[in-house]
Parts: sequence; structure tokens; C-alpha cells
Amino acid sequence: MAMSPTSASRIVASLLDEELIKEVHLSQGEEVGRKATYFVPNEHAVFSVGVEIDIGIIRVGLMNLVGDLFVDHSFKTETDEIEKVVEFIERTVSNLILEANISSDRVIGVCVGLPGLIDNELGIVELSAQFNWKQVSLQQMIADKLPYNIYIDNELKLKALAEYVSTSLSYENVVMIGFGNGVGSALITNGEIYRGKDNVSGEIGHMTLDPYGVHCTCGNFGCLQTYIAVDFLLDEASRTRPIKNMDELVESYKQGDRLAVNIIEKAATYAAIAINNVVCAYNPDAVFLSGCLIEDYPEIRALVIEKHLNSTSFPEARSFELQVTQLKGNGVVQGAALSVQRKFIKNLYFKDGA
Ligand SMILES: [Zn+2]
Repeated sequence: MAMSPTSASRIVASLLDEELIKEVHLSQGEEVGRKATYFVPNEHAVFSVGVEIDIGIIRVGLMNLVGDLFVDHSFKTETDEIEKVVEFIERTVSNLILEANISSDRVIGVCVGLPGLIDNELGIVELSAQFNWKQVSLQQMIADKLPYNIYIDNELKLKALAEYVSTSLSYENVVMIGFGNGVGSALITNGEIYRGKDNVSGEIGHMTLDPYGVHCTCGNFGCLQTYIAVDFLLDEASRTRPIKNMDELVESYKQGDRLAVNIIEKAATYAAIAINNVVCAYNPDAVFLSGCLIEDYPEIRALVIEKHLNSTSFPEARSFELQVTQLKGNGVVQGAALSVQRKFIKNLYFKDGA
């Protein structure tokens, strides 16, 4: 969009007033003529907080205006009881801001990412099967405790946003697929999270594969996640002997245990099918794989990629890049803090209607 020099000057003046940008004078070699003045973001002007609620763990982080997550922590949690989780968020966010020694009026907001069907506009967790939360007004519950703008969102959508922002390649459409305690996908198109009407776009974990299959947490039968998600794999693996966690199941797989091999092979096959289906739906530039099954278990990651490469997807669909997420454990926290920053920047008021 073209902008007149007057409008540009007004915007720069507003940003300077708000101390969101600062002047930098650079001299180029010989001091001839006027020195050039550059404006750069004032990284310490405002801060945003990202929070991730995951099973047994809560992560928090503080981001400055140039997108650096300069303090972040993760804490083990004993309970998924909603009131306790909200109290824990209140305490850890307050401590984070104290630790960073910034005044609270510089905090532009807190965004909490969690798995499930999240109404980001109303601030309601419609359903989070992982925590067994239904119709929880999480945004309001946190807003009652903390004096900041509070937002909530689906964790995979936030992580996909962080991946999109952090990648140096100029993709237009990027999909992230998460394989872990649930299965989901998130599309970033032209820099924005694609949400659909109720923010449940990309919930591929509940696509029906077999209407007579295993009962899913959503109430339907044979959803995609019943073939891939951790709890379903452990349930199936425990039919012959108790298997406590994925580490045990993967160890049995490595030792060639027939049931474990069968379960992991099947999960990897369905994961490859999921990648193919998502590519057919969105025709993305790149697909990023994430989730604990991909990030924590190289054997499963390699198997999924192998099954994908051997699948018979039509040639045009191969034009995308398949990558594994480069974000470490704090990807959701990064995405959550970034989303607060983006809302803040979009809502900036410029003087004189510029
Ligand atoms: Zn389901």
C-alpha cells in the first residue's frame, strides 16, 4: 500500500512518542553531508508473556519487542484441576515479571496456549480432552487474577505461527502437523493463522477413518487420532502386558517386540496418510512435523518420513518441503508471546487518523 510522506512522518512521530522505536544515527565513512537517521524498534518498550499448558508441565516466557524470548521457565505440575492451574499461572507469570524487573504497565498482554478446541474470541476452552476440560471460561478466570490483557488459543496454531516467523525462507502457506498426545494441524497463510469460523480449522485428529473403529474422546468412533495419539498407542500396547509410557513402548519396538513393532508401524503409516491428506487439502509450500512422537523419538520420526516418501501421493503434491520443527521446547510460548505482540501492533492508534 502506498503511503504519503506526511502519513509516514505522523506514524513515525506517534511511535517515537510511545517510545516504541528509537533513532539511530549512522555515519558512513567520511562525514560528508547529512547523517542518515534510522529508526529501529525499542526492544525494551513493551513486553509480552507466553504461557503453555501441557500435560504435567507449564511453560512461561517473556518476549521483548524484537521477538527475543529473554526469560523462560518450565515447571512440572501435579494436577490438571482448573483452579490450581489458574493459580499456578498467576504465580509464575507474576514471578516472571518480577524476575525481569520490568514495570507491569509495560506488559501488553499474556497469551495462554493449550491443546483442544479453543474459542479464542470468547476465551473459552470448548473441549480439551487431554485435561478433561469442557466449556471452561479460562480467559476470564485468569483475567480475574492478573491485571493484564489475557488471551487464550490453540497451542498448535501458536507454535505454527512461531515456526513461520522464525524460518528464514519466504513461504506463503505453511502447515504444522502435531503428532503427540493428540493429532492436529495448523495452517499459516500469508503470515496469518487460518482459523475457520470457530477456530477449529485443522482438527484432523477427529477426521473419521473408520466409523466402526475405536471410541474417541470426542464421542465418535475411529477418528485419526485413535491410530496415532500416545494414549491410544499405550492402550493397545498394554493388552498383553502393562506398558506405562512411550519410552517403554519405543524400547520394546527397538528390541523387535512384535506387538510394539506392529503398533508403531501402524501409527507411522497413518501419520504418513495424515501428511498426504493435509497436503491435498492445503497445497502448502512446507509442512513442519512436530509433537512428542516426532520430536522425542528419532525412530518414529524416521519411520514416518520413510512411510511418507514411499506413499503414492500424486507428483504435484510433492512440491512441498517436509521439515521437522526447529523450535525447541518453548515453541508454543514463543508463538503465544508473538500473538500478543501482533495484536498490540495491529491495535496501535496513530495520531490524526494516520
Ligand atoms: Zn475424535
